[in-house]
Amino acid sequence: MTTIAFIGLGNMGGPMAANLVKAGHKVCGFDLADSARVAAAKSGLAIVATAAAAVEGADVIVTMLPAGKHVLAVWSDLLPHVKKGAVMIDSSTIDVDSARKAHGLAALHGALSLDAPVSGGVGGATAGTLTFMCGGDDAAFAAARPALENMGKRIVHCGGAGAGQAAKVCNNMILGATMIATAEAFVLGEKLGLSHQALFDVVSTSSGQSWSTTSYCPVPGPVPAAPSSNGYKPGFASALMLKDLKLAQEAAISVGATTPMGATAAQIYAMHNAWGEGGSDFSGVIHLLRGREDLTK
Ligand code: NAD
Repeated sequence: MTTIAFIGLGNMGGPMAANLVKAGHKVCGFDLADSARVAAAKSGLAIVATAAAAVEGADVIVTMLPAGKHVLAVWSDLLPHVKKGAVMIDSSTIDVDSARKAHGLAALHGALSLDAPVSGGVGGATAGTLTFMCGGDDAAFAAARPALENMGKRIVHCGGAGAGQAAKVCNNMILGATMIATAEAFVLGEKLGLSHQALFDVVSTSSGQSWSTTSYCPVPGPVPAAPSSNGYKPGFASALMLKDLKLAQEAAISVGATTPMGATAAQIYAMHNAWGEGGSDFSGVIHLLRGREDLTK
């Protein structure tokens, strides 16, 4: 049994922390929101009044927060209370620069640190099947790994500080771009008289194949478990895809990488959000491509 602190008990953090409790750890948690604290208490976490109180005596500290500014603020508050040699894990999706600053703060206080963003969404968080993409030194990775294994299925050490966030934005930039390309092809197929199933049967076994078709097809029917077959309920909300694509663009600008498809994908998801579907699954970008007259499909 390890003593673990968990800060940020929202849609992702709540079920992740619950899996640590199920694995037999003593987990102390804090969130600013009442609703998150109440739900986490029901999962068996000890809820305390401040983040600083949660880290008292903890060997492992996990943060799961909205953005880089929240992570830096929380880590700055917590680190003076963290015991020497404890490992700080940030699983939020944040910009690479903030992730590296967070590692620097931890080093100043003698703590190990890992950026460990996730893929797998709320379903993966609940089932304990997340993929963790980790950045940090070998000692931090080794210290964090047992707790990560209680929350995920695949734990990948991508490299040094910030490497986990770098892998995350690269992966999601591919995902955003392939989803738009897939949705475009299905709209073109409709206009050419192809059935959704016929196009799916061909693409899913041909050179146009990708996860965006086989696991997450943007039209209802061919993949029953995909959000498209369930009213475009997320899944992975378009607002979160836009967030990740913006992070990818910030990263690209900071290192001078040429990413025209990623830049276009960010603009198209900005339009999808402005169109009013930010809370729907990101595969709903197909509605934007079809246009208003075809919203019933
Ligand atoms: P969420 O908004 O449901 O949860 C964030 C929680 O952090 C909230 O409960 C909020 O009250 C809390 N919080 C904010 N500031 C705080 C502070 N200073 N102290 C304590 N608590 C604080 O968001 P989420 O969906 O759980 O996502 C969390 C992170 O995971 C984000 O970075 C997101 O991009 C990433 N992510 C989300 C998904 C997903 O499908 N939801 C998938 C992969 C990655």
